[in-house]
Amino acid sequence: LPEPTQQRLFFALWPDASVRQALQAAGRQAGAGSGRPVHPDDLHMTLVFLGQVATERLPDVQTVADGIVMRPFDLAIDRFGWWKRSRILWCAPSRVPEALPGLFDQLQAGLADCGFAPERRPYRPHVTLARKVTQVVPGTLDRPIAWPVDSFALIASRTGGEPPRYRVLKKWPADS
Ligand code: ATP
Ligand code: MG
Repeated sequence: LPEPTQQRLFFALWPDASVRQALQAAGRQAGAGSGRPVHPDDLHMTLVFLGQVATERLPDVQTVADGIVMRPFDLAIDRFGWWKRSRILWCAPSRVPEALPGLFDQLQAGLADCGFAPERRPYRPHVTLARKVTQVVPGTLDRPIAWPVDSFALIASRTGGEPPRYRVLKKWPADS
């Protein structure tokens, strides 16, 4: 097979099996079934979306990630909501620990230094639970999800075809 010359990439928090299962349950409560639920193996929290990246730029991307200062932190995913425009059903923490925008800012700054176009929109941490959802009244999760975050990951995304769509290329553990 020919080597891909570019890949669609993003940085994300990648849940372990138990958090993944809890996110799936959150989706059921929030009404993911009325749309197209995200495949359980694809559930994640995006940090920074890179888009198409040439394979020769991968070392630069990894060097940026190597330079990130990260301590482990806890996320409490306790609410869900719906965005009308994108028709996305999501869940999120009502209290965002400073470490999370901290990760976003560091990645963004490092990538900008390497010539990647920065994200213009403000960072809104969320986990997409389902797409093509017509409408959902926002609410509180019956079972808030305790998500101990001790790493972040570089993910490759393929469009089209069957889910799961995402693949972990590399994980960076937090400095404990
Ligand atoms: P598709 O676009 O084929 O429907 P997808 O949205 O699941 O599939 P990607 O578009 O590769 O897959 O997106 C990967 C992740 O990055 C998702 O969490 C998505 O919400 C997020 N993302 C995509 N585009 C952007 C963007 N322009 N800014 C911020 N995050 C983005
Ligand atoms: Mg997309």
